[in-house]
Amino acid sequence: MPNPTVTALFRPEILAMSAYHVADAENFIKLDAMENPYGWPADIQQAWLEHLKDCPMNRYPDPEAKSLAAALRSSNNIPEEYGLLLGNGSDEIIQILQMALSGDATVMAPEPGFVMYKQIALSLGLHYQGVPLQADGFDLDLPAMLAAIHSSQPSLIFLAYPNNPTGNLFDAQAIKEILAVAPGLVVVDEAYAPFADASFIGELPNYPNLLVMRTVSKLGLAGLRLGFLAGDNAILEQLHKVRLPYNINCLTQITANFALTHQDFLLEQTRSICQQRSEVLAELQTMADIKSYPSAANFILIKTLTRSADEVFVSLKKQGVLIKNLSPQGGVLHNCLRVTIGKQEENRAFLAALQNALRNPQ
Ligand code: PMP
Repeated sequence: MPNPTVTALFRPEILAMSAYHVADAENFIKLDAMENPYGWPADIQQAWLEHLKDCPMNRYPDPEAKSLAAALRSSNNIPEEYGLLLGNGSDEIIQILQMALSGDATVMAPEPGFVMYKQIALSLGLHYQGVPLQADGFDLDLPAMLAAIHSSQPSLIFLAYPNNPTGNLFDAQAIKEILAVAPGLVVVDEAYAPFADASFIGELPNYPNLLVMRTVSKLGLAGLRLGFLAGDNAILEQLHKVRLPYNINCLTQITANFALTHQDFLLEQTRSICQQRSEVLAELQTMADIKSYPSAANFILIKTLTRSADEVFVSLKKQGVLIKNLSPQGGVLHNCLRVTIGKQEENRAFLAALQNALRNPQ
């Protein structure tokens, strides 16, 4: 029975929505959430613990996270003339951006794409328009995007580069054409930049409506919850009004700053993940029962051809391996699964479990 107070209090779009679901991963080989599988070397961890002593827990953190912002700027080559906005994960930045829009604004993103763009738009009562990617290869359908932009005049477009959950980099020229005609802001979401040899940061001078968003999550710092947005100062000035004071806590500020000054080990881990990605993809491509898609990110999308993805997902879980089942999202993701690249032994366990799931229906 629905609680009448609840149904009376909340907007219909909130009542109709499901909360973002995070699977319980305890005791699984965890390959579901695009995390870096490696821990910190013992000497680095020791130095970090020493460093934490400088964190004044009785004080509010620096509201502008100045020292961390400078470290992010230099490690990501963001020129001084552009503003930075830091968020509690890039999720929070997606929310800040949309909270600042006018109430009847349209938010647009290609689909399949990162689900939070739509979830946040709907939760704020904004219009959301998804534009299908090309069915074959998942590149942008440029004529469809241009037509949708023309008819809906979106205030904000998200383009994930590389895209989640498909793993590919959209054609850069198509993104530039979108930037040239978009009537509002275009956020190029570079969450997976550490694994891709491509970025739009260098395009900031060419497009005043371009904002580049990044996160430290995939680099190996998902626990910190830290993302940032770079772009035109006049735009970021408005967004800062919506940002809550002290949104980056002092443990995150001090730890991220420390990690960025010791980032060689993270970059080395990223190189290993890219190496592992090639090995896993080569193995997947030998399997006739699935189609696997090339990836510029730290995960690979696969489609089951002979068995249902739901069955394969359950079988993998029974074998102790947790990946992401995208099939419930339907459409082109029907029978699709997404596996994050883990350590070599985790990837091998996944590949063996997958072979088993495809061969031996449970
Ligand atoms: N953008 C994309 C494309 C993502 O896939 C994710 C996380 N899965 C995010 C943004 C959010 O990352 P975070 O909030 O951890 O910074």
